[in-house]
Amino acid sequence: MLIPLICNQCGGKLEVEQKWVLESGDTVIVLSDQTFTCPHCNTKHLPGETLKRLPEKTAITIAGNVSGSNIVIGNGNVILKGRKKPRQL
Ligand SMILES: [Zn+2]
Repeated sequence: MLIPLICNQCGGKLEVEQKWVLESGDTVIVLSDQTFTCPHCNTKHLPGETLKRLPEKTAITIAGNVSGSNIVIGNGNVILKGRKKPRQL
């Protein structure tokens, strides 16, 4: 089973076999004797390295309210939704 991760070099999405990594919350740790290469930036992810999981529930709304804090667009680049402070008079 493949799980989607976020490359910590380029922010792109990469999918790895679940058995290649140790899952820990919303991050995974690359197991020893496993190495995989990001298809976007060719960075090698080595054993012991920590990568973020791509959130399974992705909040994308058009002309609606976004309840989540992250919006994922395209190949997995995460854009944080800016919170505008109330204007001080
Ligand atoms: Zn990458």
